[in-house]
Amino acid sequence: MAGIYIHIPFCKQACHYCNFHFTTSLLYKSDYLKALIAEMKLQKDFFQGEKIETIYFGGGSPSLLEADEIKILTEHIHNNFYVDNLLEVTLEANPDDLTTQKIKALKTTAINRFSIGVQSFFDEDLIWMNRVHNSSQADSAIKTAQDAGFENITIDLIYGTPTLTDLNWKKNLAKAIDLKVPHISAYGLTVEEKTPLHKLIAKHQKENVDEIKLESQMMQLMETLMNKGFEHYEISNFAKPNHHAIHNTNYWKGKKYLGLGASAHSYNGNERSWNVSNNNQYIEAILKGELIAEKEVLTTQEKFNEWLMTGLRTQWGCDLQEGEQKFELNWIKQLLQEATPYIEQKKIKFDNKKLTLTNKGKLIADKIISDLMMVK
Ligand code: SF4
Repeated sequence: MAGIYIHIPFCKQACHYCNFHFTTSLLYKSDYLKALIAEMKLQKDFFQGEKIETIYFGGGSPSLLEADEIKILTEHIHNNFYVDNLLEVTLEANPDDLTTQKIKALKTTAINRFSIGVQSFFDEDLIWMNRVHNSSQADSAIKTAQDAGFENITIDLIYGTPTLTDLNWKKNLAKAIDLKVPHISAYGLTVEEKTPLHKLIAKHQKENVDEIKLESQMMQLMETLMNKGFEHYEISNFAKPNHHAIHNTNYWKGKKYLGLGASAHSYNGNERSWNVSNNNQYIEAILKGELIAEKEVLTTQEKFNEWLMTGLRTQWGCDLQEGEQKFELNWIKQLLQEATPYIEQKKIKFDNKKLTLTNKGKLIADKIISDLMMVK
Protein backbone atom coordinates (compact mmCIF):
# COMPACT_ATOMS: atom_id res chain seq x y z
CA MET A 1 0.00 0.00 0.00
CA ALA A 2 1.51 3.35 -1.05
CA GLY A 3 0.50 6.99 -1.20
CA ILE A 4 1.06 10.18 -3.15
CA TYR A 5 1.49 13.60 -1.54
CA ILE A 6 1.01 16.74 -3.64
CA HIS A 7 2.37 20.00 -2.26
CA ILE A 8 0.43 23.16 -3.17
CA PRO A 9 2.67 26.01 -1.96
CA PHE A 10 0.23 28.92 -2.16
CA CYS A 11 -1.45 30.79 0.70
CA LYS A 12 -3.51 33.98 0.94
CA GLN A 13 -1.63 35.22 4.00
CA ALA A 14 1.37 34.12 6.08
CA CYS A 15 0.47 32.68 9.49
CA HIS A 16 3.10 33.94 11.91
CA TYR A 17 4.11 30.53 13.30
CA CYS A 18 4.36 28.75 9.93
CA ASN A 19 7.59 27.20 8.64
CA PHE A 20 6.12 25.26 5.71
CA HIS A 21 7.14 26.06 2.16
CA PHE A 22 4.64 28.52 0.62
CA THR A 23 4.29 31.84 -1.15
CA THR A 24 1.49 34.41 -0.96
CA SER A 25 1.81 35.11 -4.71
CA LEU A 26 -0.40 33.03 -7.00
CA LEU A 27 1.31 34.36 -10.11
CA TYR A 28 2.85 31.04 -11.16
CA LYS A 29 0.01 28.75 -10.10
CA SER A 30 -0.77 27.45 -13.60
CA ASP A 31 2.93 26.84 -14.43
CA TYR A 32 3.28 25.05 -11.11
CA LEU A 33 0.34 22.76 -11.93
CA LYS A 34 1.91 21.97 -15.32
CA ALA A 35 5.14 21.11 -13.51
CA LEU A 36 3.28 18.79 -11.13
CA ILE A 37 1.88 16.88 -14.10
CA ALA A 38 5.32 16.76 -15.71
CA GLU A 39 6.81 15.45 -12.45
CA MET A 40 4.21 12.65 -12.37
CA LYS A 41 5.47 11.54 -15.79
CA LEU A 42 9.09 11.71 -14.66
CA GLN A 43 8.30 9.70 -11.53
CA LYS A 44 5.91 7.17 -13.06
CA ASP A 45 8.17 4.21 -12.19
CA PHE A 46 8.71 5.29 -8.59
CA PHE A 47 6.41 2.64 -7.13
CA GLN A 48 7.39 -0.11 -9.60
CA GLY A 49 3.79 -1.14 -10.04
CA GLU A 50 2.81 -0.97 -6.36
CA LYS A 51 -0.78 0.09 -5.83
CA ILE A 52 -1.64 3.66 -4.74
CA GLU A 53 -4.38 3.78 -2.15
CA THR A 54 -4.14 7.30 -0.77
CA ILE A 55 -3.64 10.79 -2.17
CA TYR A 56 -2.98 13.79 0.05
CA PHE A 57 -3.18 17.40 -1.17
CA GLY A 58 -1.15 19.36 1.40
CA GLY A 59 0.46 22.75 1.58
CA GLY A 60 0.37 25.63 1.64
CA SER A 61 -3.35 25.93 1.03
CA PRO A 62 -4.54 23.32 -1.49
CA SER A 63 -8.10 24.58 -0.96
CA LEU A 64 -7.03 27.48 -3.23
CA LEU A 65 -7.20 25.00 -6.12
CA GLU A 66 -10.35 24.94 -8.21
CA ALA A 67 -12.29 21.66 -8.32
CA ASP A 68 -11.37 21.31 -12.01
CA GLU A 69 -7.67 21.64 -11.20
CA ILE A 70 -7.99 18.86 -8.61
CA LYS A 71 -9.75 16.70 -11.21
CA ILE A 72 -6.94 17.24 -13.73
CA LEU A 73 -4.23 16.38 -11.17
CA THR A 74 -6.13 13.27 -10.07
CA GLU A 75 -6.66 12.19 -13.67
CA HIS A 76 -2.91 12.42 -14.32
CA ILE A 77 -2.21 10.36 -11.18
CA HIS A 78 -4.48 7.67 -12.66
CA ASN A 79 -2.68 7.93 -16.01
CA ASN A 80 0.81 7.56 -14.55
CA PHE A 81 0.44 5.21 -11.57
CA TYR A 82 -1.38 2.02 -10.66
CA VAL A 83 -4.41 3.35 -8.82
CA ASP A 84 -7.19 1.05 -7.77
CA ASN A 85 -9.84 1.53 -5.11
CA LEU A 86 -8.57 4.79 -3.61
CA LEU A 87 -9.22 4.54 0.13
CA GLU A 88 -8.53 8.12 1.07
CA VAL A 89 -8.12 11.37 -0.86
CA THR A 90 -7.51 14.24 1.56
CA LEU A 91 -7.60 17.96 0.87
CA GLU A 92 -6.10 20.31 3.44
CA ALA A 93 -8.48 23.25 3.53
CA ASN A 94 -8.62 26.65 5.12
CA PRO A 95 -12.07 27.46 6.55
CA ASP A 96 -12.46 30.66 4.51
CA ASP A 97 -12.06 28.66 1.27
CA LEU A 98 -14.79 26.16 2.12
CA THR A 99 -17.84 28.10 0.97
CA THR A 100 -21.07 26.26 0.11
CA GLN A 101 -20.34 26.68 -3.59
CA LYS A 102 -16.75 25.41 -3.29
CA ILE A 103 -17.77 22.37 -1.26
CA LYS A 104 -20.45 21.55 -3.82
CA ALA A 105 -17.82 21.68 -6.57
CA LEU A 106 -15.37 19.57 -4.52
CA LYS A 107 -18.07 16.92 -4.11
CA THR A 108 -17.65 16.20 -7.85
CA THR A 109 -13.90 15.44 -7.39
CA ALA A 110 -12.18 12.41 -5.83
CA ILE A 111 -11.77 14.24 -2.49
CA ASN A 112 -13.36 12.17 0.28
CA ARG A 113 -11.69 13.68 3.35
CA PHE A 114 -11.05 17.24 4.52
CA SER A 115 -8.31 18.32 6.87
CA ILE A 116 -9.57 21.73 8.01
CA GLY A 117 -7.11 24.20 9.54
CA VAL A 118 -9.35 25.51 12.31
CA GLN A 119 -6.58 26.12 14.92
CA SER A 120 -9.02 27.78 17.36
CA PHE A 121 -12.69 28.72 17.60
CA PHE A 122 -11.71 32.06 19.23
CA ASP A 123 -10.96 35.15 17.16
CA GLU A 124 -8.32 36.46 19.59
CA ASP A 125 -6.18 33.34 18.97
CA LEU A 126 -6.69 33.48 15.19
CA ILE A 127 -5.69 37.15 15.10
CA TRP A 128 -2.63 36.43 17.27
CA MET A 129 -1.59 33.68 14.79
CA ASN A 130 -2.32 35.97 11.80
CA ARG A 131 -4.72 33.42 10.34
CA VAL A 132 -6.79 34.65 7.41
CA HIS A 133 -10.07 33.12 8.63
CA ASN A 134 -12.29 33.93 11.62
CA SER A 135 -14.06 31.73 14.15
CA SER A 136 -17.47 31.81 12.47
CA GLN A 137 -15.90 30.65 9.18
CA ALA A 138 -14.29 27.75 11.07
CA ASP A 139 -17.64 26.70 12.45
CA SER A 140 -19.53 27.07 9.18
CA ALA A 141 -16.86 25.30 7.05
CA ILE A 142 -17.25 22.15 9.16
CA LYS A 143 -21.05 22.25 9.17
CA THR A 144 -21.29 22.99 5.44
CA ALA A 145 -18.93 20.13 4.60
CA GLN A 146 -20.93 17.76 6.81
CA ASP A 147 -24.23 18.92 5.27
CA ALA A 148 -22.78 18.18 1.83
CA GLY A 149 -22.06 14.60 2.93
CA PHE A 150 -18.36 14.81 3.87
CA GLU A 151 -18.33 12.70 7.02
CA ASN A 152 -14.58 12.04 7.06
CA ILE A 153 -13.26 15.31 8.48
CA THR A 154 -10.24 16.09 10.60
CA ILE A 155 -9.57 19.48 12.14
CA ASP A 156 -6.27 20.98 13.26
CA LEU A 157 -6.16 22.75 16.61
CA ILE A 158 -3.25 24.60 18.24
CA TYR A 159 -2.76 24.86 22.01
CA GLY A 160 -0.23 26.75 24.13
CA THR A 161 -0.93 30.05 22.32
CA PRO A 162 -0.40 32.93 24.81
CA THR A 163 -3.95 34.21 24.12
CA LEU A 164 -5.53 30.77 24.74
CA THR A 165 -6.71 30.38 28.35
CA ASP A 166 -7.25 26.92 29.86
CA LEU A 167 -10.98 27.65 29.87
CA ASN A 168 -11.01 28.53 26.16
CA TRP A 169 -8.95 25.43 25.35
CA LYS A 170 -11.60 23.39 27.16
CA LYS A 171 -14.27 25.19 25.09
CA ASN A 172 -12.34 24.54 21.84
CA LEU A 173 -12.26 20.81 22.62
CA ALA A 174 -15.94 20.81 23.63
CA LYS A 175 -16.82 22.54 20.36
CA ALA A 176 -14.87 19.99 18.29
CA ILE A 177 -16.66 17.17 20.13
CA ASP A 178 -20.07 18.84 19.64
CA LEU A 179 -19.38 19.21 15.93
CA LYS A 180 -18.84 15.42 15.80
CA VAL A 181 -15.62 15.52 13.81
CA PRO A 182 -14.18 11.98 13.93
CA HIS A 183 -10.51 13.02 13.88
CA ILE A 184 -8.55 15.82 15.56
CA SER A 185 -4.89 16.77 15.09
CA ALA A 186 -3.73 18.96 17.97
CA TYR A 187 -0.32 20.63 18.03
CA GLY A 188 1.44 22.43 20.83
CA LEU A 189 2.60 25.81 19.51
CA THR A 190 6.30 25.73 18.65
CA VAL A 191 8.41 28.71 17.71
CA GLU A 192 10.45 27.76 14.65
CA GLU A 193 13.46 29.77 13.59
CA LYS A 194 13.05 32.15 10.64
CA THR A 195 9.30 32.49 11.19
CA PRO A 196 7.67 35.90 11.77
CA LEU A 197 6.71 34.62 15.23
CA HIS A 198 10.35 33.96 16.10
CA LYS A 199 11.28 37.50 15.07
CA LEU A 200 8.35 39.09 16.90
CA ILE A 201 9.23 37.26 20.13
CA ALA A 202 12.91 38.27 19.77
CA LYS A 203 11.79 41.90 19.42
CA HIS A 204 9.50 41.50 22.47
CA GLN A 205 6.49 42.30 20.31
CA LYS A 206 4.87 38.95 21.07
CA GLU A 207 4.82 36.83 24.19
CA ASN A 208 6.79 33.58 24.13
CA VAL A 209 5.25 30.14 24.66
CA ASP A 210 4.87 29.09 28.27
CA GLU A 211 6.10 25.48 28.63
CA ILE A 212 4.03 24.82 31.76
CA LYS A 213 0.86 25.94 30.02
CA LEU A 214 1.75 23.78 26.99
CA GLU A 215 2.07 20.73 29.24
CA SER A 216 -1.14 21.36 31.17
CA GLN A 217 -3.13 21.97 27.96
CA MET A 218 -1.70 18.78 26.44
CA MET A 219 -2.80 16.83 29.52
CA GLN A 220 -6.26 18.43 29.28
CA LEU A 221 -6.37 17.46 25.58
CA MET A 222 -5.49 13.79 26.20
CA GLU A 223 -7.90 13.37 29.12
CA THR A 224 -10.82 15.10 27.38
CA LEU A 225 -10.58 13.34 24.03
CA MET A 226 -9.82 9.89 25.44
CA ASN A 227 -12.87 10.22 27.75
CA LYS A 228 -14.96 10.96 24.68
CA GLY A 229 -13.92 7.78 22.87
CA PHE A 230 -11.06 9.12 20.74
CA GLU A 231 -7.99 6.91 20.39
CA HIS A 232 -4.73 8.76 20.93
CA TYR A 233 -3.05 6.85 18.14
CA GLU A 234 -0.20 9.26 17.39
CA ILE A 235 1.29 11.95 19.60
CA SER A 236 -0.62 14.76 17.82
CA ASN A 237 -3.52 12.71 16.44
CA PHE A 238 -6.80 11.49 17.91
CA ALA A 239 -9.41 9.45 16.08
CA LYS A 240 -12.75 7.79 16.68
CA PRO A 241 -12.60 4.05 15.85
CA ASN A 242 -12.07 3.40 12.13
CA HIS A 243 -11.09 7.00 11.45
CA HIS A 244 -7.30 6.88 11.62
CA ALA A 245 -5.69 8.91 8.83
CA ILE A 246 -4.66 6.16 6.42
CA HIS A 247 -2.14 8.25 4.46
CA ASN A 248 -0.31 9.55 7.55
CA THR A 249 -0.44 6.19 9.31
CA ASN A 250 1.36 4.71 6.32
CA TYR A 251 4.16 7.28 6.81
CA TRP A 252 4.49 6.25 10.43
CA LYS A 253 4.50 2.57 9.49
CA GLY A 254 7.37 3.08 7.02
CA LYS A 255 5.34 2.55 3.81
CA LYS A 256 6.45 4.09 0.51
CA TYR A 257 5.25 7.52 -0.55
CA LEU A 258 5.96 9.88 -3.40
CA GLY A 259 5.92 13.61 -2.76
CA LEU A 260 5.24 15.81 -5.80
CA GLY A 261 5.92 19.53 -5.88
CA ALA A 262 8.38 22.01 -4.42
CA SER A 263 9.77 20.90 -1.02
CA ALA A 264 7.87 17.58 -1.14
CA HIS A 265 9.56 14.54 0.43
CA SER A 266 9.52 10.96 -0.86
CA TYR A 267 10.51 7.57 0.57
CA ASN A 268 10.96 4.43 -1.52
CA GLY A 269 11.62 2.06 1.38
CA ASN A 270 15.35 2.65 1.38
CA GLU A 271 16.09 6.16 0.22
CA ARG A 272 14.64 9.53 1.19
CA SER A 273 14.54 12.42 -1.23
CA TRP A 274 13.23 15.95 -1.09
CA ASN A 275 12.51 18.39 -3.88
CA VAL A 276 14.00 21.88 -3.97
CA SER A 277 12.05 24.36 -1.80
CA ASN A 278 11.85 27.04 -4.46
CA ASN A 279 8.86 27.25 -6.81
CA ASN A 280 10.65 28.88 -9.73
CA GLN A 281 13.62 26.51 -9.63
CA TYR A 282 11.23 23.57 -9.31
CA ILE A 283 9.07 24.66 -12.27
CA GLU A 284 12.05 25.46 -14.48
CA ALA A 285 13.85 22.17 -13.84
CA ILE A 286 10.81 19.91 -14.09
CA LEU A 287 9.58 21.51 -17.31
CA LYS A 288 13.06 20.80 -18.78
CA GLY A 289 12.59 17.15 -17.75
CA GLU A 290 14.92 17.24 -14.74
CA LEU A 291 14.18 16.27 -11.16
CA ILE A 292 15.73 18.74 -8.74
CA ALA A 293 15.98 16.87 -5.47
CA GLU A 294 18.46 15.83 -2.81
CA LYS A 295 18.69 12.22 -1.70
CA GLU A 296 20.00 10.17 1.16
CA VAL A 297 20.19 6.42 1.60
CA LEU A 298 19.29 5.58 5.17
CA THR A 299 21.98 3.82 7.20
CA THR A 300 20.92 0.97 9.48
CA GLN A 301 21.40 3.32 12.42
CA GLU A 302 19.07 5.91 10.85
CA LYS A 303 16.51 3.19 10.14
CA PHE A 304 16.73 2.10 13.79
CA ASN A 305 16.20 5.68 15.00
CA GLU A 306 13.21 6.12 12.68
CA TRP A 307 11.73 2.83 13.85
CA LEU A 308 12.18 3.98 17.45
CA MET A 309 10.76 7.46 16.84
CA THR A 310 7.71 6.47 14.82
CA GLY A 311 7.05 3.53 17.15
CA LEU A 312 7.15 5.60 20.33
CA ARG A 313 5.06 8.38 18.80
CA THR A 314 2.24 5.96 18.00
CA GLN A 315 -0.07 3.71 20.01
CA TRP A 316 1.50 0.67 18.36
CA GLY A 317 4.78 1.32 20.19
CA CYS A 318 8.14 -0.33 19.52
CA ASP A 319 7.76 -4.07 19.20
CA LEU A 320 11.09 -5.43 20.42
CA GLN A 321 10.51 -8.80 18.75
CA GLU A 322 10.14 -7.01 15.42
CA GLY A 323 13.20 -4.90 16.33
CA GLU A 324 15.25 -8.07 16.91
CA GLN A 325 14.47 -9.22 13.38
CA LYS A 326 15.41 -5.90 11.82
CA PHE A 327 18.45 -4.84 13.85
CA GLU A 328 21.36 -6.22 15.86
CA LEU A 329 20.27 -7.99 19.03
CA ASN A 330 22.67 -5.83 21.06
CA TRP A 331 20.93 -2.66 19.93
CA ILE A 332 17.58 -3.94 21.22
CA LYS A 333 19.14 -5.03 24.53
CA GLN A 334 20.71 -1.59 24.89
CA LEU A 335 17.40 0.09 24.06
CA LEU A 336 15.62 -1.86 26.79
CA GLN A 337 18.36 -1.05 29.26
CA GLU A 338 18.18 2.68 28.49
CA ALA A 339 14.38 2.65 28.62
CA THR A 340 14.36 1.02 32.10
CA PRO A 341 14.51 4.30 34.14
CA TYR A 342 11.54 5.59 32.12
CA ILE A 343 9.68 2.31 32.69
CA GLU A 344 10.31 2.69 36.45
CA GLN A 345 9.05 6.30 36.34
CA LYS A 346 5.91 5.04 34.51
CA LYS A 347 6.66 7.20 31.48
CA ILE A 348 7.07 4.12 29.29
CA LYS A 349 4.95 0.99 29.53
CA PHE A 350 6.71 -2.31 28.80
CA ASP A 351 4.16 -4.96 28.06
CA ASN A 352 4.15 -7.98 25.79
CA LYS A 353 7.67 -7.09 24.55
CA LYS A 354 6.42 -3.67 23.43
CA LEU A 355 7.50 -0.21 24.56
CA THR A 356 4.77 2.46 24.47
CA LEU A 357 4.64 5.94 25.99
CA THR A 358 2.21 6.53 28.86
CA ASN A 359 0.36 9.87 29.10
CA LYS A 360 3.09 11.06 31.48
CA GLY A 361 5.71 10.03 28.92
CA LYS A 362 3.88 11.71 26.04
CA LEU A 363 4.37 15.08 27.76
CA ILE A 364 8.12 14.68 27.26
CA ALA A 365 8.06 12.49 24.15
CA ASP A 366 10.80 14.39 22.32
CA LYS A 367 13.20 14.12 25.26
CA ILE A 368 12.58 10.39 25.74
CA ILE A 369 13.01 9.67 22.02
CA SER A 370 16.24 11.64 21.81
CA ASP A 371 17.59 9.89 24.94
CA LEU A 372 16.88 6.46 23.45
CA MET A 373 18.18 7.16 19.96
CA MET A 374 21.28 5.31 18.84
CA VAL A 375 24.27 7.65 18.68
CA LYS A 376 27.60 6.33 17.46
S1 SF4 B 1 -2.26 28.46 5.79
FE1 SF4 B 1 -0.95 26.77 6.48
S2 SF4 B 1 0.78 26.73 5.06
FE2 SF4 B 1 -0.28 28.70 4.76
S3 SF4 B 1 0.86 30.12 6.07
FE3 SF4 B 1 -0.86 29.35 7.29
S4 SF4 B 1 -0.06 27.53 8.38
FE4 SF4 B 1 1.37 28.05 6.74
